[in-house]
Amino acid sequence: MKNKYITFSKNIFIPVTNVCRNACDYCGFRARSHEDAYVVGVKEFLNLVNNKGTATEALFTTGEKPELANLSPFFKNRLIETGLGCSSLVEYTKELCKMAIKHGLLPHCNLGVLSKEELKELRDVNASMGLMLETTAELEAHKKSPGKDPKERLELIEEAGKLKIPFTTGILVGIGEEKEDRIRSLAAIKSLHEKYRHIQEIIIQPFFPKPLTPMWNKKPPVFEEMKEVVLAAREILPEEIAIQVPPNLTSPKALIELGASDLGGISKKTQDYINPESPWPGEEELRRIVAPFELRERLPIYPEFIKKGWYSEEIRPLIERYADDEGLRRVNVL
Ligand code: SF4
Repeated sequence: MKNKYITFSKNIFIPVTNVCRNACDYCGFRARSHEDAYVVGVKEFLNLVNNKGTATEALFTTGEKPELANLSPFFKNRLIETGLGCSSLVEYTKELCKMAIKHGLLPHCNLGVLSKEELKELRDVNASMGLMLETTAELEAHKKSPGKDPKERLELIEEAGKLKIPFTTGILVGIGEEKEDRIRSLAAIKSLHEKYRHIQEIIIQPFFPKPLTPMWNKKPPVFEEMKEVVLAAREILPEEIAIQVPPNLTSPKALIELGASDLGGISKKTQDYINPESPWPGEEELRRIVAPFELRERLPIYPEFIKKGWYSEEIRPLIERYADDEGLRRVNVL
């Protein structure tokens, strides 16, 4: 057995807005018109965090740079209506992060491509942050998505390293990339990690077709491909980077045997807004799936980064409350 245990976390999933400047061919999350666009309001947000149960993570996922989207007037009006006086996604999400911390949740933001200043703005109110690299290849699926320029995404991951932000990234499998592209993407992540030692996990996520998208008729990758990618990732990446496979999108058991060691976040109270058709399994089901490996709950910041002290004074009290001696989730503490 390669793994000591298999980890997962418990989150409250907050899709701050589905307004996005990009238009990826596989995306079912992005708003297409005013009718399906939203910005989560403060009251709605507080309802979510007040109902957190035993979750420790506030996962903020959003469309990218909504200020530059064709629905930006809608986005800006909704921001004004929140009454917090914020004029950008970053400012607004920072306010929500501060509220999440007050309510006992450790934020993890994935807001798409950000500037160095924006990353700095968010660093102290986040336990970790993330951005999927997806791929280093230039793909047809990204032709209407300026934010999917691999160079820009690698630059952001690098800036996160310079700022000592525990970071989550990953690749999307089956969006038109070749096998070699996957290897190149993994190698690019490895090389940034070698410089900054900041990557805590990489997600290996299969493409899943969504209704009303240009890729609706494309097949998801076959399971053999997922196995190949996990195996390649375990060979290419150093041991300290966990390989995460989402248990609502793939069958984790065989992938765990090949070196995957994390199942990502699950939530009892909220859904996976990116993949609403795929509910997460519950904790007991995860325990059954990973047996004979032991299932352990972690925080959105991995133990190694807690040990290194890569967190701010703002979130220190929550880390001290929730982390046990190993840096994993302390049991029976709410
Ligand atoms: S960047 Fe994300 S939210 Fe925006 S269109 Fe692409 S996949 Fe969808």
